[in-house]
Amino acid sequence: MATNPISLMASPRRGHYDAIIVGARCAGAATAMLLARAGLKVLAIDRKPYGSDTLSTHALMRPAVLQLWRWGLLEPLLKAGTPLVETTTFHYGDEEITVPLAGNLELPGLIAPRRTVLDRILVDAARKAGAEILHDVAVGDLFADTRGRIRGIEIRAAGRASLRVSAEIVVGADGIGSLVAKCVDAQPSRRGAVSAAHVYGYAPVEPGAGYHWYFRDGLAGSFIPTNDGLACIVASVPTSLFDQRFRLGHARARMDVLEALSPALAAQAARAPKDARLQAFRGVPGYIRQAHGPGWALVGDAGFFRDPITSHGISDALRDAESLARAILDGSQAAFATWQQRRDLIANQILDTTDAVAGFDWTLDDIGERHRRFSVVLKAEVQALAGQPAPARRASKPTTYRAPANQDKPPVEANLSRNRTGARP
Ligand SMILES: Cc1cc2nc3c(=O)[nH]c(=O)nc-3n(C[C@H](O)[C@H](O)[C@H](O)COP(=O)(O)OP(=O)(O)OC[C@H]3O[C@@H](n4cnc5c(N)ncnc54)[C@H](O)[C@@H]3O)c2cc1C
Repeated sequence: MATNPISLMASPRRGHYDAIIVGARCAGAATAMLLARAGLKVLAIDRKPYGSDTLSTHALMRPAVLQLWRWGLLEPLLKAGTPLVETTTFHYGDEEITVPLAGNLELPGLIAPRRTVLDRILVDAARKAGAEILHDVAVGDLFADTRGRIRGIEIRAAGRASLRVSAEIVVGADGIGSLVAKCVDAQPSRRGAVSAAHVYGYAPVEPGAGYHWYFRDGLAGSFIPTNDGLACIVASVPTSLFDQRFRLGHARARMDVLEALSPALAAQAARAPKDARLQAFRGVPGYIRQAHGPGWALVGDAGFFRDPITSHGISDALRDAESLARAILDGSQAAFATWQQRRDLIANQILDTTDAVAGFDWTLDDIGERHRRFSVVLKAEVQALAGQPAPARRASKPTTYRAPANQDKPPVEANLSRNRTGARP
C-alpha cells in the first residue's frame, strides 16, 4: 500500500513558541540550543533530514572552535572521530610557512568536522536543552499582524491546509537563499565585490595531517583533514575561470588546478576512488543584510555571507548565534541595535579581508600580508568571545517569555495577515 507522505510530516507540539527558528544547522541549531538553555520555548525547523550533508567544506577557525569548547561541544566532536589539527601551512608558490596550532585547554588545536557530524551534534545539544527540532519540514511563508510585525510561520504540505505556528520572534537561520530575509524584505547594508568558485572532493589521508592552504598565480587550494580518515581537497578559482574551464567537466579541470598549485596536492587528490563525487560552488558575492526588525531576526548566512575562501562562515554563524541569543533574552530595542552594530563591525572587517583574497588580484608578494590582516581580525574576535558568560535571561524576567520591547502586542489571530515580499499589510 502506498504511504501517504503528508501523514509522515512531523507537526509542532505547540501552537505558540517564544522563538521559532527557520533552519537548523550551525546558525539555527546553535541559536536554538542557547535560547533553550536559557529556558525559552523554542521550535527550529529544517527542510533537510537530521544529520544530512550540505554544500560546505569544514575548516573551523579559532573563533568557532572556542565557541564549541565554551558550549561543551568540542569533546563530543573529538569523540565522534574528528581529528585534531595541530599545524596550518601556507604555501605561497614554492614557499612554505608552517604555523603550530597546539595551544591550551580551550583551543587544543583546530578541527574540521563534516557537516553531518557538526550539525547533528548542535541539533542533539539543542534537543537536550529542551528545544523542539523538526526536520524534513519546510517553512513556506511568514505571517504578520496588521501593523506588519511578524507573528509566526506557515508550514505547508502538498494536499494539506497550511499550518500556522506563532512566536514572539521568528529567526531566519535559513542560509543564502533565506525565505525569512525575502519575506521581511531585509535590505542589504553592503554587497561584496567579488566571488570565487570552489570545487571539492575527498581523499584518504594519514592521521596527524595539518591544514594546508595553497596560493599561486590566481589559483588557490586547500587540504582539510576531516572525519572518516579523509581530507577535503578544494580547488578555488575566479568565477570567470570556472565558467571557462570547468564547463566541460569538473574532475579534469580541478586536477589541473591542483597540479598547478602543487603536484603533491594533486597526488593526494588522486588517491580518491575514481568514481568519487565532486561538489561545486560557482560563487556568490558577499553581503551584509539588515539583521532584525519587528518580530524577526536573521543569523548566519541569512544575514551575512562572505566567500568561503577564508573558511569563516561557521565561525560567523556560531558567534552571531550567541550574540543574537543575548539580544533576544534581553529583549530591549537597545539590545537588538547593539547586536546589529557589533555584528556589522566584525562582518565588515571579515568581508573586507575575505574579498581581498577572493578577488584573486593579489600577488605572491602581498597575499601573506592579506592573511596577516585576517589573522589580526581573528585574534580580536577570539579575545572578544573568550570569557563571555553564557547567554542568560535577566533575573528580573518573568517566567513567561514576553515579546521584546521593540515589538508590540501579542498575536491576535483575527489580525493576522500574510507578509510575503510585496504583500505587506
Ligand atoms: C563551498 C563552500 C565551502 C565552505 N567552506 C567553509 C569552511 O571550510 N569553513 C567555514 O567556516 N565555512 C565554510 N563555508 C560557509 C558555511 O558553509 C556557511 O557559512 C554555514 O553553513 C552557514 O550556516 P547557516 O546555519 O547560516 O546556514 P546553512 O548551513 O546554509 O543552513 C541553512 C538551513 O536552512 C534550511 N532551510 C532553508 N530554507 C528553509 C525553509 N524554507 N524551511 C525550512 N528549512 C529551510 C536549509 O535546509 C539548511 O539546512 C562554506 C560554504 C560553501 C558554499
